[in-house]
Amino acid sequence: MQTVPNYDLHCHSTASDGLLAPVDLVRRAAGNGVDVLALTDHDEICGLAEARAEAADIGLRFVNGVEVSVSWGGITIHIVGLNIDPDNPQLQQGLHAIREGRTERAKKMAEDLARVGIPGSLEGAYAYVDNPNLIGRTHFARFLVEKRYVNDVKSAFQHYLVSGKPGYVPHQWATLEEGLGYIKAGGGVAVVAHPGRYKLTRTEMRKFFGEFKDGGGSGVEVVTSSHTAEQFLEYAILAKEFGFLASRGSDFHGPGESRIDLGKLPNLNADLKPVWHDW
Ligand code: AMP
Ligand code: MN
Ligand code: MN
Ligand code: MN
Repeated sequence: MQTVPNYDLHCHSTASDGLLAPVDLVRRAAGNGVDVLALTDHDEICGLAEARAEAADIGLRFVNGVEVSVSWGGITIHIVGLNIDPDNPQLQQGLHAIREGRTERAKKMAEDLARVGIPGSLEGAYAYVDNPNLIGRTHFARFLVEKRYVNDVKSAFQHYLVSGKPGYVPHQWATLEEGLGYIKAGGGVAVVAHPGRYKLTRTEMRKFFGEFKDGGGSGVEVVTSSHTAEQFLEYAILAKEFGFLASRGSDFHGPGESRIDLGKLPNLNADLKPVWHDW
């Protein structure tokens, strides 16, 4: 039987909002049968060196990645950069600026939560932060679970951390152009993360894909834990229509928190051109 290599090109470590240290993430991926792994922390690349060293030790192929937060059309969109050069100064500076925005947003989130009777959430969220330069909503979610305001991380988002809820603070991330610029400066390939998650109409999605392509983007996640089987098909069709390379990634954040484990995804359909076709 012919087996297809197992590529997982989207996951998170403690360098952002994942639960496992880079070294443990790599070991878990190998244990799960992943052949090629990309670590794609939010707006952060400081976990790559540790992950790469461990991958080399245990014979797993490793890809330097990042998941860049951008604002487009009033919503937040995530762009995964793959095969980036972590030493590129322009990429480093761009990501640094986005992380500083996160620190400011976190203070405002805590003020908002205090107004609805939830004190101490900034310190509480930081207790879950491993990398002091990178705080996100997931860290607040874990604090809200700890204090029993909600039963799980998913409910924390539903009740507090999404648009219209008391802990939600609208935020201006990098522009699409800036985000693509950072990835390009680092020599990486830009891939739209989990497109099925964005609240865009079909027309808006096409407009976004068009701008993404014009700006130098070249891929889209087709198989991701965020998508249903119908969405695998929907984005496979759009990938072909726009001439995008297709990617596959679990978006794993941690055991017990993520529904889909590292590498445990369906394969890309054979009629798609995978983002790794020329690696
Ligand atoms: P941030 O970049 O700080 O705004 O946080 C975005 C992260 O929050 C995502 O990468 C997910 O890890 C997490 N997240 C967003 N929405 C949800 C949700 N509905 N349930 C669980 N986690 C979520
Ligand atoms: Mn996340
Ligand atoms: Mn994302
Ligand atoms: Mn992600």
